[in-house]
Amino acid sequence: MMRETMIDPFGRHITYLRVSVTDRCDFRCIYCMSEAMTFLPRQDLLSLEELDRLASAFIAKGVRKLRLTGGEPLVRRNILWLLKSLSRHLGQGLDELTLTTNGSQLARYAEALADCGIARINVSLDTLDADKFRAITRRGDLGEVMGGIEAAHRAGLKIKINTVALRDLNEDEIEDLIGWSHGNGFDLTLIETMPMGEVGADRTEQYVPLSLVRARLEQRFTLDDVPYRSGGPARYVQVRETGGRLGFITPMTHNFCEACNRVRVTCTGTLYMCLGQEDAADLRAPLRASKDNALLHAAIDDAIARKPKGHDFVIDRQHRTPTVARFMSVTGG
Ligand code: SAM
Ligand code: SF4
Repeated sequence: MMRETMIDPFGRHITYLRVSVTDRCDFRCIYCMSEAMTFLPRQDLLSLEELDRLASAFIAKGVRKLRLTGGEPLVRRNILWLLKSLSRHLGQGLDELTLTTNGSQLARYAEALADCGIARINVSLDTLDADKFRAITRRGDLGEVMGGIEAAHRAGLKIKINTVALRDLNEDEIEDLIGWSHGNGFDLTLIETMPMGEVGADRTEQYVPLSLVRARLEQRFTLDDVPYRSGGPARYVQVRETGGRLGFITPMTHNFCEACNRVRVTCTGTLYMCLGQEDAADLRAPLRASKDNALLHAAIDDAIARKPKGHDFVIDRQHRTPTVARFMSVTGG
């Protein structure tokens, strides 16, 4: 297969695609969704075959890393069919097929994921306390997620834990999360909350700058900067006391856009060139217009040619409203 490359107006090579396979989720995390979310009617979603065609088109255009996300990717019916199908590209242009999950379904799926050639996964986990877990996710069961993580570990999947740092909620638990993650051989990445979607909570009350978290950690641990990159915006340190890796994703305190290599597609086939901007391109119409991919490829090229330089996230302290109206669960983070 002839491989193309996608290069945006700022010379950045687009090699990473994130696909949100559903906007639905079994949790309602307080920073991600509102309590009363309305989800898309099922008929608006791309079929699994269409998602396969879309992702494959991006791989033909130079994408080397593909991450399925959501909503919760593992609640999409028949998701294994899509993963199995996409795994045909591994070693044939695609270097990595992976997913980000809340872990609630992992106990069921871990073995099958490994069988699809998935080598590592990200699991989101903000606390080790069952009551807090239920409060943050508004309905999740920590025991189930822990069981899922254990199953994934047993199945040989490498695990990275993602934790959103939340003021007054889990700030005091970061050290424990480091101890637990590193003790189990998992990397841990801390994320700042981003102002996306009206979640029914005050963003300024949720936000804690990671610069502050890091300064606190440095009183207890020795953090050595390391050049390791996982293909994303995280900057890593090695924690000398645990020997484990700790990442920081700081969209709010440090602009992470210069090296952006990614774009995102929603479950309705809308392509977002930047997580923090509204501009988008509809790929569902060109996808459905014909069986050959010429129109689709042209629409992708048009969109990449207007990938913006960076996001404009700000916490609007006066109005306390989100900068970007769509929810994180639309594009999957
Ligand atoms: N449901 C899956 C999960 O939770 O891992 C995948 C989708 S979720 C939208 C992807 C990641 O985005 C999670 O790690 C979640 O914590 C993070 N996230 C959601 N809303 C966020 C926000 N407003 N700011 C920062 N991170 C957010
Ligand atoms: Fe669901 Fe993930 Fe959003 Fe939590 S962060 S509500 S698990 S999509």
